[in-house]
Amino acid sequence: MPSRPRRAAIAVAAVVTAAAVVAVVVIGSRGGGGGASTGTAPPTAASTEPLPAGVPALPEWGPVAGVPEDFGVPAGGDAVVRDVADGTVVELTRPDGTMYATAEIDASGRYRGVEYYDASGDLELSVDRVDALPPGSPVGASQAGRGGCRNVQNRSGQRWTSMPIPWRLNARSVPRRPGASRVLTAAKAARATWARNRNRCGVRDASRVTFRYRGITTRGIGKNGINTIGFGETNELGGACVGAVACTFTWSTGRRSTESDIRVDKNHRRGYAAGGRPGRRIDLQSVLVHETGHTLGLEHVRDTGNVMYPFVRAGSTIYRRLGRGDALAVNALY
Ligand SMILES: [Zn+2]
Repeated sequence: MPSRPRRAAIAVAAVVTAAAVVAVVVIGSRGGGGGASTGTAPPTAASTEPLPAGVPALPEWGPVAGVPEDFGVPAGGDAVVRDVADGTVVELTRPDGTMYATAEIDASGRYRGVEYYDASGDLELSVDRVDALPPGSPVGASQAGRGGCRNVQNRSGQRWTSMPIPWRLNARSVPRRPGASRVLTAAKAARATWARNRNRCGVRDASRVTFRYRGITTRGIGKNGINTIGFGETNELGGACVGAVACTFTWSTGRRSTESDIRVDKNHRRGYAAGGRPGRRIDLQSVLVHETGHTLGLEHVRDTGNVMYPFVRAGSTIYRRLGRGDALAVNALY
């Protein structure tokens, strides 16, 4: 989770008495789990308390296997709220001091990414999204020109330890436009962008990342042992995915990545272009480059010259190639 030194507010959940703990358990039992769940038990806190004042609640998660129901302060634990340049970072810890969950929340109160940690404080699940800016938006324009090659630190709490990383396409989920074969081409290109470290900044590929496409699947998002790329409604996923262009769920054990699934929103009003010039539509390959960065364990950065900036600009293909920070990060991690 990127953070800035300025620590504006520290909301400390008061030390609660045993009686108070009993009184606040209510929050922990909201629905949302269930579904066609085949995964293992998601990370949980025994019970949680409400978030500190001023921190918006995370929308309820949809029925995704392997996703916790809750984003709240573990009973007896702490919440730290840090102001960052464009929003806040929230860190929730258990009573024993281990991390339970973290989130980045933008200035409009939207959750841009959420991470959950297991009982020993190791990252267990990371959920991150990407959104679209309108064609020609100033942020998008500035990234195309000079200043597009700044190094930005991008650390990670998880990485893959064996290569190649296998993946499948849920072809049936792909809308007729752009169609499964174009989507597959765009997805393979996005994977190759990282595997070959194709960047705009002259950084040499020193990483050992490889991906292997294993064919189509009917499996989708959720912990089921298969890394998938598919389409669907991001709203249906709930949580940090509501309204997103795409959302990625990456699970890990002991800091080793075990599965990563990507869903692209099938209903996004701007529509997608796969291959060629996108016109005013969203370039699918750029979206999948960003999401594949999450699959590899990278987090969001604020610099628009890197693909891990959490927005793609409709009509632009600039994020088909990595920026300097992205390229150095994948070299360092792998
Ligand atoms: Zn993202």
